[in-house]
Amino acid sequence: MTAPPLAAAAIAQLEAEGVDAVIGTVVNAAGLTHAKTVPIRRTNTFADPGVGASPVWHVFAIDQTGIAFTDSIGVVGDQRIRIDLSALRIIGDGLAWAPGGFFEQDGTPVPACSRGTLRRVEAALAEADITAVVGHEIEFVLVNPDGSRLPSTLWAQYGLAGVLEHEAFVRDVVAMATASGVGIEQFHPEYGTNQFEISLTPQTPVAAADQLVLTRVILGRVARRHGLRVSLSPAAFTDGVGSGAHQHFSLATSDGPLFSDGAGVRGMTPAGESAVAGLLRGLPEAQGILCGSIVSGLRTRPGNWAGAYACWGTENREAAVRFVTAGPGNPYGGNVEVKVIDASANPYFASAAILGLALDGIRQQARLPTETTVDPATRSDQERDRAGIVRLTDSQAEAIAALDNSQRLRAILGDPAVDILVAVRRFEHEHYGDLSPQQLTEKFRMAWSV
Ligand code: GLU
Ligand code: MG
Repeated sequence: MTAPPLAAAAIAQLEAEGVDAVIGTVVNAAGLTHAKTVPIRRTNTFADPGVGASPVWHVFAIDQTGIAFTDSIGVVGDQRIRIDLSALRIIGDGLAWAPGGFFEQDGTPVPACSRGTLRRVEAALAEADITAVVGHEIEFVLVNPDGSRLPSTLWAQYGLAGVLEHEAFVRDVVAMATASGVGIEQFHPEYGTNQFEISLTPQTPVAAADQLVLTRVILGRVARRHGLRVSLSPAAFTDGVGSGAHQHFSLATSDGPLFSDGAGVRGMTPAGESAVAGLLRGLPEAQGILCGSIVSGLRTRPGNWAGAYACWGTENREAAVRFVTAGPGNPYGGNVEVKVIDASANPYFASAAILGLALDGIRQQARLPTETTVDPATRSDQERDRAGIVRLTDSQAEAIAALDNSQRLRAILGDPAVDILVAVRRFEHEHYGDLSPQQLTEKFRMAWSV
């Protein structure tokens, strides 16, 4: 699983290309991106045996100081972050970057490591002869370095004005992404003022999450060059729409895709239907992972296109699960978009949860509920009840409790992972549960920025 060491010649090559240092990143349970940096000559050591990090990294809180200690995570102990050399990228100006994972000092994987957890889910899929491909979307709001609002005199929803106002930023992001091997599918102004979106080329799950992290690194670097910063907060401001971190996925077996060319509804195969069904029934329990932060509930509201209802529908932007059918307009084929996810989520854990739930659905031949073809908010409570459409909670306490009690997600991710996810979210609730929406958005606007 560990990539072989870089030969001396390869390191010399990196040096010849002007690389001085390697940044290795890990993402923790609260969605914070952490980093260690080594000089280029220490690259192989960073990969094996790795560099030290306290177990408390898993539970650093979003308030810049807090630590959500658990029964098993305290101040004693030391783990190793190992970078994955096979994913190393040169990112310009003397820097290289690689994604990292957590290992014990004896080299065994740390069960709570999010990248390792997603790897395990990928392996479980492979054992069932299923390959998954994941495509990430990043929505973000451009702000001043102090987090304050930029002017939006020239702005229209999805408007050209936003591209031209920030032309140099847009161009530099695309150029740096291309030079770093990041596949940008498209880049566009979003609905909210100074809000943009980038969609990334689909890849296998771990590689896709790595690519998302690298894109955030690129956005942070380029924004600084233009005197800007990027807010990834689900709710950067109290007015207007929030920012999502939607994940699309498709599944295939050696017999072909599960979300197209099938005999089921909308071209799904029976296994494809069960995958969507498995995901849907697990959503209320997975919310604490997908959009569980203290500000997430300010986004997952009807009318925000954030998928506030646990239901599925073809091209339905108010459904937590939007189905995209195969066809000439969709070169990547039929796929499922999980809209509820936001950037407070650890993307590795989020993918692990949704793919694990889908696999569960397939194994148990879960039955797909009827498709929702309308905006659920336009229906009465009784109609929604009859159709089995559940409004996802906007209460963080409820989402945390559902996750904590979820036998399904504990089986998929393992207890150590669920326990740290619960701990960081509970910390937010206990310390900041009394703040008003205004205070919350302000305090945590830049919490996930890099
Ligand atoms: N900004 C919306 C969200 O919070 C999504 C808009 C869209 O459909 O792209 O998820
Ligand atoms: Mg969008």
